[in-house]
Amino acid sequence: MQSEVHIVGGGLAGTEAALFLAEAGVRVVLHEQKPERRSPAHKEDGLAELVCSNSLRSDNPHNAIGLLHEELRRLGSPVLAEADRARVPAGDALAVDRVRFSGGLTARVQAHPLIRMAFEEVRELPAAPDLCIVATGPLTAESLAQSLRDAVGAEQLAFYDAIAPIVAGESVDLSVAFAQSRYGKGEGADYLNLPLSREQYEKFVEELVNGGKVAPHAFEEARYFEGCLPIEVMAARGRDVLAYGPMKPVGLSDPRTGARPHAVVQLRREDQAGTAWNMVGFQTRLTWPEQKRIFTSCIPGLQNAEWVRLGQVHRNTFLNGPQVIGPEGFLKARPHVYCAGQITGVEGYVESAASGHLAARRVLGRLRGAEFVAPPAATALGALLRHVTGEAHPPGYDYQPSNVVYALFPPLEGRHKKIERKAKLLQRARRELAGWAAATGVALSPAPSEPWPSELRS
Ligand SMILES: Cc1cc2nc3c(=O)[nH]c(=O)nc-3n(C[C@H](O)[C@H](O)[C@H](O)COP(=O)(O)OP(=O)(O)OC[C@H]3O[C@@H](n4cnc5c(N)ncnc54)[C@H](O)[C@@H]3O)c2cc1C
Repeated sequence: MQSEVHIVGGGLAGTEAALFLAEAGVRVVLHEQKPERRSPAHKEDGLAELVCSNSLRSDNPHNAIGLLHEELRRLGSPVLAEADRARVPAGDALAVDRVRFSGGLTARVQAHPLIRMAFEEVRELPAAPDLCIVATGPLTAESLAQSLRDAVGAEQLAFYDAIAPIVAGESVDLSVAFAQSRYGKGEGADYLNLPLSREQYEKFVEELVNGGKVAPHAFEEARYFEGCLPIEVMAARGRDVLAYGPMKPVGLSDPRTGARPHAVVQLRREDQAGTAWNMVGFQTRLTWPEQKRIFTSCIPGLQNAEWVRLGQVHRNTFLNGPQVIGPEGFLKARPHVYCAGQITGVEGYVESAASGHLAARRVLGRLRGAEFVAPPAATALGALLRHVTGEAHPPGYDYQPSNVVYALFPPLEGRHKKIERKAKLLQRARRELAGWAAATGVALSPAPSEPWPSELRS
């Protein structure tokens, strides 16, 4: 076994990976730039700093994020164990006392005989042959970002999320939407189109321009790529800009009228089964309540929309995972470099910790000469992994960071009511995780007994 694994970044992902590897008997050097240098969002000195909310979101396993909590707990995740110790009352959410949470993990790292802390900014990817895990997060400093860019190609490292909303397929009104591709391209009916008359379009543009926006953080210059402008910025440039941009109706005709609508909102499949649909070109900085209000009131067919994800645009350094990370989990261009956390294109505290956990298991497998078998696609961990490898997405998918959501899971057979579907997804995930653990010899604690009354399962 080699002497040391280098982990760059002591955030959620790096701390999880360091403790997991050390507890498995691997020597670790954890490089952390604080306190010498901080990103604009990091204020404290401790590891695993929660830079914004103190909530790790729903703990209810009938939600994809709650299921991810459960799986991490059952696999012995240090981050989840510490979150449980630092828990504060917050309904069905797992919220923590952030000082206690970070303090507990920092103390565990400092006390571990196999972890050495190196308080320094790492400016270049560590050299081979030692294995390393890069977990420097959404605000990775420029010098290391440049080194990553040199390794993978400039176009494979993005600096902004430009996230369009995703709507649940079953909530779209199919008496309004029509299935069609522009000029009948592809299968001819690949998109769902929501048609707007001139009056509806103009009202929509007015609402976008006047709607409430999220103010950029001080470190986020409101400077966007021209190809990825927020819709409200386009709307403010002129009344017809959207109708000639993402809402252009060319090559489409509404089969019910035989006419071309004045404008359309196009929805593109997020998954093969059509359970989730992406609003094409609708990245936005409108606040989430404003997105719900404006989209449901102004876009025909979305009046009862359920949102899988709402739109956002914010500073975020992330790799194009499906292009640059190979099936073995390391960078295709640097086989000794693994990446973990938000820099791989996962989004959120717990998803980042989960990504660190998976990277650590991969590294451990390689050190022990054992093949890494990925958790099944129907588990939350497997779904997250399939997002990063691109397996969860249709061809041509524009890779953008994602939380763990059920749209990343393989669909269930048949149609089910929402509550029933969630219960079935949970049962399937538990069954598959247990099968995977038994087949691979991974230690797994028992699933919790059912604490969730049916009225809490939505
Ligand atoms: C402003 C902001 C608000 C957010 N709010 C939320 C929220 O409310 N809820 C949520 O779930 N997610 C939120 N996120 C996303 C959140 O950052 C991630 O979910 C999570 O913290 C990412 O974990 P990570 O381990 O990948 O990176 P981080 O937790 O950011 O950790 C990266 C670590 O690497 C260190 N580092 C960076 N570069 C170097 C280097 N060159 N050398 C050595 N060390 C380095 C940093 O100091 C840091 O400690 C927010 C992100 C931002 C930027």
